[in-house]
This record gives sequence, C-alpha cells and structure tokens, in this order.
Amino acid sequence: MSAERVEIYDTTLRDGMQGEGMSLSVDEKVQVAHALDRLGVDAIEAGFLGSNPKDAAFFERLAGETFEQAQIAAFGMTRRRDVRAEDDPALQLMASSWVPVCTLVGKTWALHLEKVTKVSREENLAMIGDSIAFLRERGKRVIYDAEHFFDAYRDDAEYALKCLQTAAEAGAETVVLCDTNGASMPGDVTLATLAVDERLGAGVRIGIHTHDDAGCGVANALLAVQHGARHVQGTMNGYGERCGNANLVSIVPGLQLKLGFDCVTPEQLAMLTETAHLIDEINNLTPNPDQPYVGRNAFAHKGGMHVAGILADARTFEHIDPAAVGNDRAVLISELSGKGTVQTRAEQGGVDLDEQAASRIVERVKALEHQGFHFEAADGSFDLLIRKETGEYEPLFRLESWRVIVEKRENGRVETEATIKIWVDGERYVRTAEGNGPVNALDRALRAAIGETYPHLRDIELINFKVRILNESKGTGAITRVLLDASDGVEAWGSIGVSENVIEASWEALVDSLEAGMLPSRPGAAGPPVVA
Ligand SMILES: [Zn+2]
Repeated sequence: MSAERVEIYDTTLRDGMQGEGMSLSVDEKVQVAHALDRLGVDAIEAGFLGSNPKDAAFFERLAGETFEQAQIAAFGMTRRRDVRAEDDPALQLMASSWVPVCTLVGKTWALHLEKVTKVSREENLAMIGDSIAFLRERGKRVIYDAEHFFDAYRDDAEYALKCLQTAAEAGAETVVLCDTNGASMPGDVTLATLAVDERLGAGVRIGIHTHDDAGCGVANALLAVQHGARHVQGTMNGYGERCGNANLVSIVPGLQLKLGFDCVTPEQLAMLTETAHLIDEINNLTPNPDQPYVGRNAFAHKGGMHVAGILADARTFEHIDPAAVGNDRAVLISELSGKGTVQTRAEQGGVDLDEQAASRIVERVKALEHQGFHFEAADGSFDLLIRKETGEYEPLFRLESWRVIVEKRENGRVETEATIKIWVDGERYVRTAEGNGPVNALDRALRAAIGETYPHLRDIELINFKVRILNESKGTGAITRVLLDASDGVEAWGSIGVSENVIEASWEALVDSLEAGMLPSRPGAAGPPVVA
C-alpha cells in the first residue's frame, strides 16, 4: 500500500511575513517562491491580492514565473456583510485574477461575531457559503481557513462544525482548522479533528494551520494529520507573528520519515537543510544552529562514547539519517575526543589520517584547549589544524606585518584604519582600509590584497563575532578568545583566535575563517554560491 499523501501549503510569504522585522522585496519573494517550489510544496500563499502595491507587484511578477509543482494561492476574506459576493470588490479581484487557488478566511467563533464583527450567526454562515460558491463558479480552487476554529469548537462545537459544513457544501476543496491564537493543547486538536472528520466525511479535505504560542505548533499539526487532516499549512523555519507559525521544516520530515505519509520526493526532502538555510539568508537571519533536523548541531556528537556509538551503528545516537534531510553528521572536537573522533572529522574534510597523526592531533587539541582554545564551535580552525599536522596546509599568504590605528576625534567620531603588508606568490601587497572597527578594517584590507587571487573570498561573509575574556581574575593580563562564524551561502563554519590582545585574537580568527572557507573540501569553494 502506498503512503497517503499530505498536501503542504506554505504561508511563509503571507503569515510568515507578520513576524517581527520580516520584510522582503519583490525579487527576494520570487527567490523564496522558487526555493519552495524546488522543495516540492504544493501551494505557495503569496499574500492579499491588491491590498497594497507591494503585494500587487508580487502577484504581477508571479504571473510571469513558471513553477514545477507549486500552485500560487491568494489570500482574502469572506464577503462583507449585507453585500452580494459578486459585488464585493476584494472577491471580484480574486475571481478575475490568474491565480488558481483562493484561500478565504472567515469567522467561526461566536465570541468574535458578537464582540468584534457584530454579525449574526446566520449572516456569517451566508457570508461563508456565498463567497465560496462565487469563487467556485469562477473556476477557482477554494480553500477555507476557519479562523479561531479550536477556540470556537471549545465554545460552541455545533456552530463551529456548521461553519465548516457550510464551506464544504459551497464547494471548498479543503477546510482548514486554524489555531489562530496558538492556544490549543495537543489533546484538544486530536478530539476536534476527529469530530470534524466524522461530521464532514470523505467529500472534503481537512487542513490544519497552527501557531506556536504554547510551543505545540508542530505537535498539533502532526496530530491533526494522524487524525484525518491531509493538508498542512505552515511557514519555513517557523516564521510568523508572536511565537511563530508551525514550522514546516520540522513538519515535513516528521510526516514523511516518522509517520509514513507522503509529502515530497526523497530527493526534495534531501534539499530541506539547504532550502531552510537559503530562506534564512534571504531574510537576513542567521540559521538557528539548534533547529531540529536542519541545524548544524542537529547531528553533532561530542565525547568518546557517542562517537564510538555512531561509528558502530548510527542508530545508537541518531534519530534519523542526517542525509535524508540534507544535513551532515558533525563530530565535535574537544579535549574529551579520542583518535576515532579526530579521524572521522578528518575524513569528512577529505584528509586521510594514520594512527600516529591522529594521536598527535589529540595531544595538540589538549594542549591548545589548555591555553583557552575551544574547537567545538570552531570546526573551520580544526580542519586547518589537521592540515597543519599532516603537512597539507597551504596558507593563503605570508604575513609581513599589520597595524591598526584607532583614532577618536574631538567631534566624538571614532575612525579605524588598518594597514597590512603581506606576500602572495612572491609578490608583496601593501593595503590600507578603513572600517567600523579593527576587525572590519583588517578584513577589508586583507580582502583588498588577496581578493583578486581568490575570487571565492567575495562569497564569504562574517556573520557572527563573539569575544570572551578567559581567566578574568588576571584583569588586563587576561586571555581573550574570539569566535567568528562565517558563511559562503552554502555552508557555515566557525573559527577561533586566542591571545592576550583582542585584536591579535581577532586577526587569528579572521585568517582561519577565510582560509577554512577556501579549503578544497568545502562545496562552496568549488563553484558559485547558491545565494544569488
Ligand atoms: Zn496564522
């Protein structure tokens, strides 16, 4: 028996954009839409048709784009009260547009009818039915979003079910149970979904749209599917107002790998990590390292026993095969690590290590950790360390000197300037650059010097800079540890520098970060980055 199909409906570009600080240009939205299409979602909710010029421009652009699989959906409301559906301007616009799927949201909760819209229960049912019937007559696929469904069901189950029944009878292909406030507990979702399934029967598909206010967004969506829903709405990376929408990045592998439903192809599922990170990058957000399935720590193992376990049989410490969602196993390096851990990490970086070299590296890590290094978050620096021990390390340049000047002016402005003198292929480069701080100025001067020799450096961006003072009791004699995260749009890695001088520590981390980004084993170093 083949797996039952669950339709994935993405609302990143509509509900997800309600999140704090979320704003995308039309071009960026088009990029997101194509990334979602490649991932294999069934529908992309693009926004309100004609409610504002930006959404209107986006729909206009989408009309000229081709998608492999995803259908574009427009979002709107049921007709206004005391107006015929065909006379409602917003519904007219939806009916006459090219968009194949129309998603209508309507009231279900009597509390809202009494307190907010002052519409009678009967008129509300008529608004639902008329609006859907009108769009069906015009050949649209109609999805009905029952706003506040679960609150409504708790308040007056019979009326809530009546709203859904009206939508189904008017021709909605899917009726979506919305946990608009994100208030529902998993048990409530189970019972309500079962009741809906029993009332509506097989003629209409049940959908689920949840929010994460109670930390149950994903769980509620999965439970609804287990109890009859076959359409799931959510956003990539759980973007959305307040605590966010249900996260499709967790829902899709949960449905497919754990519950045996069919959402996307295995090849598409293997693009999940890349797609989640790409969409974060487009939104100018740093991917959450601890995100389920796709975070860089999602399959990170530390310590001898875990690593020995996964080498013997990955199932001992991994809940799924990381490759199924396009993620990688990460082996964290620390003074607790043994030779096996070091060898595994070296292999991932394309270096063969014999026993002796592995022992030497284990000892080196212990000595460096004693000085204040910390390789768990600095995988890039560790990859370089391996190469330094095996003689495969090739520096990007040879340093003659660098100098940083920080000057505070009478008017309060602080100016920073860095000069570096380096050698590349027997040629001497002297470059000066200004920056908003010492690291930024050094970074610019260094890139100005070697950027032409190594064009891939242009793709590498420093995304996070953390400074920590170790051994604070020594006051100014304390050691400074700098951790830098960098990304080339395909992968992210960390580097580290440790020194009594904060600028020297930063320089070490900066050089490691660029050198690690240029390692031949890094996919991004081989070709153009995924982020356009
Ligand atoms: Zn919502």
